[in-house]
Amino acid sequence: MNLDDHARLVADGRFPAPADAAVPGHLSVLYRGRLSSCNYDCGYCPFAKAYDSRGALRRDAEDLRRFVDWAAQQRRPLSILFTPWGEGLVRRHYRDALTTLSHLPQLRRVAIQTNLCVGMRWLDAVDTARLALWCTYHPSQVARSAFLARCRELDRRGVRHSVGMVARREDLDEIEALRAQLPARTPMWLNAFDPRPPDYYDAAQVERLQRIDPHFRYNLEPAPSLGAPCLTGERVISVDGDGNVRRCHFVAEPLGNLYDGSYAAQLRPRACPNARCDCYIGYAHRPDLPFLRDYAGGVLERVPAAPADA
Ligand code: SF4
Ligand code: SF4
Repeated sequence: MNLDDHARLVADGRFPAPADAAVPGHLSVLYRGRLSSCNYDCGYCPFAKAYDSRGALRRDAEDLRRFVDWAAQQRRPLSILFTPWGEGLVRRHYRDALTTLSHLPQLRRVAIQTNLCVGMRWLDAVDTARLALWCTYHPSQVARSAFLARCRELDRRGVRHSVGMVARREDLDEIEALRAQLPARTPMWLNAFDPRPPDYYDAAQVERLQRIDPHFRYNLEPAPSLGAPCLTGERVISVDGDGNVRRCHFVAEPLGNLYDGSYAAQLRPRACPNARCDCYIGYAHRPDLPFLRDYAGGVLERVPAAPADA
């Protein structure tokens, strides 16, 4: 579906059906703790080669344990996406958290954004039926062949995953090479390079990128969001290491705390208060955009629905 088709659907009042959110009582939780370090050194990232002190890592691990304990006590169906500022999987406490959460019957999905730099042995203990990985390939940091080998291992283990890249102009050939070497069934997403000058991409480049990720334009030219419907604050929440709950990572207003339960009374439908929402983990929850339908069953990990599921 292109932007025009979708605008027509919206005008007709036929918003895509929110498949995950349609499960009664289902709550999606985006968790971002205090971890802000990474083993990679990407030129486009403020967390490149940043270090957390031992104390900060200990605190992050304690926070995460509390969050996992909270999830274990819930009876409602949950999906959880970890969106750390840095790389979580290099830390044992994230691998342990994912492992524990993957075995909870109320978890529909547990996922994490990762650069996929770690070995795969930890997956032996995971219930891979519930796990998903949002994997980003950073060509300045790892050879394509090494990244692809890890993707193959995920496939061999039956781990659901998406693969994506930051769409820098100088990486266009690399983006196409990765797509060509990934199995056709592996979905590939692209984020527009940001910040960028207004004429950063020409029309032909946008077309090339759009061929790889048919939803690229939503990231490149985000629809205005002020007043738009958004499931965050109702069926999706953002949680930090202290348990502070916000509707999403991009709206600062607190809704309460996870651990004293005060957030629950605040969950209700609400419109977006921001002028723009240009990040997939935000705008994917807008029912007036096609993501809840096109990614039904895989919104959090950015895996589109197979044609038969859509
Ligand atoms: S892997 Fe991700 S968090 Fe780490 S430096 Fe690169 S962009 Fe930043
Ligand atoms: S549209 Fe984006 S910024 Fe607005 S409430 Fe939803 S997730 Fe937050």
